[in-house]
Amino acid sequence: MTTKEIKNVYYTQIAKQQFRITIELNHKQLWGYDIRYRGNTLTIRVKHQPERLKLSSLTIVLDAGHGGTNRGALGSTGALEKDVAFAIMKHLKTQLEGRGAKVVLTRTDDTNPSPLERLKKVWSADADILVSVHANSVGLATNPEDVQGTATFYKHLCFRPLSLCVLKQVLKTGLASFGNVGSFNFGLVSPTELPNVLIETAFISHPEDEMKLLDDEFRATLAKRVADGIQDFLDLSEE
Ligand SMILES: [Zn+2]
Repeated sequence: MTTKEIKNVYYTQIAKQQFRITIELNHKQLWGYDIRYRGNTLTIRVKHQPERLKLSSLTIVLDAGHGGTNRGALGSTGALEKDVAFAIMKHLKTQLEGRGAKVVLTRTDDTNPSPLERLKKVWSADADILVSVHANSVGLATNPEDVQGTATFYKHLCFRPLSLCVLKQVLKTGLASFGNVGSFNFGLVSPTELPNVLIETAFISHPEDEMKLLDDEFRATLAKRVADGIQDFLDLSEE
C-alpha cells in the first residue's frame, strides 16, 4: 500500500462473519479499484488519480460498439449502429488527440472483438478513462417516434460523475435527454479499474435522431461535446 492515494483504512465488524472495510482517499474522485482473492488473502488495490489531470498526459480507450456481423440496432433508413458508433468514435479520437491525449481503440475496423478482447485492450493500455459509443433503439412494442434523445450509462456509482459531465455537454447539441442511467450491466461499463462511461448517442430508431446520426457534421459536433464532457470531469476531479 502507498500512502499517496489512501488516507486511512479501518474496519468494523457489523455482524457475525461480516466485516466492513472503509478506505478513505486523498482525492474526492475514486479513479478505480480492484478487489480479488489471491489464495486466502483478500487484496484491494486502489488506483492513484493520475498525477496530472490534463488530457495531454492521459490515455483514453475508445470503444465503438458492435462491429462485423454484430450490426447492433437498425435505423428506419437502414443505418447500422455499428457504423454510426464507429464514425462518432473516430471523430472523438481526432478531438482527444487534438487535445494531446493518447488514444487506444478496442476496434480499428469493421470487426467485432469479444467483450474480453476489448477489455484486454483496456488493461494492456494501462488507460486512465474508457468511453464506449453506441446508439440506442426502442423495442418492437414501442412506436419508434415516441422515444428519442441521448443518454449516458454507468454501472459503478463511483463513475457517475463522468457520465453526468458527458451528458451535460452532449445535450448542448440539441438532442433530447433520455437521461443518466446507473447500475447498467452491459458492455464495457463493467470495469472497476478506471472511470468509464457508455454513451447511447441518440435513438437510431427515431427518424429525427437517425438523420442526425447519419450527418457527419453532427457526429463531429457530438464528438467535440463528449471530449468537452471528459474535460469537465477532469476539472471537477481536480477541485
Ligand atoms: Zn449498442
